[in-house]
Amino acid sequence: MKTKILVANRGEIAIRIIRAIQELNCEAVAVYETPDRDSSHIRTADEAVWIGHGPRCDYLNIDKVIAAAQKSGAAAIHPGYGFLAENADFARACEKAGIIFIGPPSDVIDNLGNKVTARRIMAEAGIPMVPGTQNLKAGNEGLQEAVEFGRKYGYPIMLKATAGGGGRGIRKIEQEKDLKDHYAMARAEANAAFGDDSVYLEKAVVRPKHIEVQIIADKKGSTIHLGTRDCSIQRRNQKLVEIAPAFQLTPEQQEAISQTAVKAAKAAGYFNAGTVEFLYDSDGKFYFMEINTRLQVEHTVSEMITGIDIVRTQIKLALGKDLSIRQEDVQLRGHAVEMRINAEDPKNNFMPEGGKTVHVYRSPGGYGIRLDGFCYQGFTIPQVYDSLLVKMTVFGWSWNETVDRLRRSLNNFVISGPKTTIPFYLNLINDPDFQAGKFDTSFLETHEYLFDYEEDSSEVNKLAKLIAEIHCKGGNAYAA
Ligand code: ADP
Ligand code: ADP
Ligand code: MG
Repeated sequence: MKTKILVANRGEIAIRIIRAIQELNCEAVAVYETPDRDSSHIRTADEAVWIGHGPRCDYLNIDKVIAAAQKSGAAAIHPGYGFLAENADFARACEKAGIIFIGPPSDVIDNLGNKVTARRIMAEAGIPMVPGTQNLKAGNEGLQEAVEFGRKYGYPIMLKATAGGGGRGIRKIEQEKDLKDHYAMARAEANAAFGDDSVYLEKAVVRPKHIEVQIIADKKGSTIHLGTRDCSIQRRNQKLVEIAPAFQLTPEQQEAISQTAVKAAKAAGYFNAGTVEFLYDSDGKFYFMEINTRLQVEHTVSEMITGIDIVRTQIKLALGKDLSIRQEDVQLRGHAVEMRINAEDPKNNFMPEGGKTVHVYRSPGGYGIRLDGFCYQGFTIPQVYDSLLVKMTVFGWSWNETVDRLRRSLNNFVISGPKTTIPFYLNLINDPDFQAGKFDTSFLETHEYLFDYEEDSSEVNKLAKLIAEIHCKGGNAYAA
């Protein structure tokens, strides 16, 4: 009998993982909530288990997901990203139920999921980081600690939820008089979002680059890195475009930051695939930010420049294999860019376009283009989940070639129905700073003119609209 692996996720990442499971000659079990009943991850899997009406609460329900795994006879669970991926209780529940959790051990998730604990472990290992506090005390005492920190290190400072993630629970404070209001709100928000009201402070790095390193470790402690990614182009502290390698850093800087990431992973007792995130300042200094104990959305760019299938490797490591590749085997070649094609209106503060139906879906193809999506013609985007439709990852040998290929593939991409990030990206790739590789986390704020474009201006899109009107929901759909 084939080994069964359950995928505790939805959307594009569920399909990405199902593909890897099937390539390993195992069977993939999907789970889904009612709003996702038309989702293509259900049909891609070998079997699917309905876990409830949701929305979201059943994907987050540890007991239901474990019960689905037991019912289907799954030997392992891949959590993807989001939902239960960084939930130490879920990893523990898997361990208790005798199911393999495809990720690091629960105690490692516990330590690294807490930003203050993670900083302590990294400080002890001599990893560079910006000054920061412990968890602030409740009430006025905490506020006083914050005032003292600001006076000592200067503004701006970052007020961060200790249990935070996904860009949420982060506030930049520009001056002392703003502290009081932010402090109370940050606590309340952290409690609502993460069930934990702990907050702490970090000195802000002004206009940093977000640089991260993909690492992979086996159970024997053999740890390798797959090079850097530049994820500076963000909205609301969330990534939009990711680039590998971070080619604005010299090869020596890339090597130094990658080695530091391996050291950080070892200090945390890391196993399986993970990402060490850093802030990188204009003087070339870098500072530890956090370790994400899971597969990242943007893992595809590292796969494209190394040729290593990270999800396949994750599964094999979790099933007990050792790393078969050494650091010397990892060759970084060319450039890769991932653009998150979201159903969002960039002009309207990236407002989600959930609830709309995709009338026409024509994806680009050809040399150097990879698509990880779950969208199809006639699909109505559920309003209750995130807005990512498809990730377009483009490979090129030179940066120039990569930008040319991005332009061609964006021009070929037709999604009609919801507004998407595609026209914004078309503006972005024609920007001289982008073409010169000059971007930091303030890029969108400092390049507001990128939001100045005409909706659906291309000939192809006009045609798509026409086709949609003629035979709505029919025609040829190309699901990525
Ligand atoms: P999350 O867990 O939500 O991903 P991170 O700690 O990784 O939170 O921070 C997310 C983003 O917030 C970073 O990519 C960066 O843009 C910004 N950020 C976080 N900490 C700082 C800091 N100390 N200085 C400047 N920017 C920061
Ligand atoms: P496989 O699953 O094919 O047995 P391994 O477990 O040995 O592969 O390796 C995991 C990943 O690393 C796979 O994506 C594989 O393609 C890649 N890989 C294997 N050997 C090498 C090598 N010598 N150089 C680069 N990549 C490799
Ligand atoms: Mg982060």
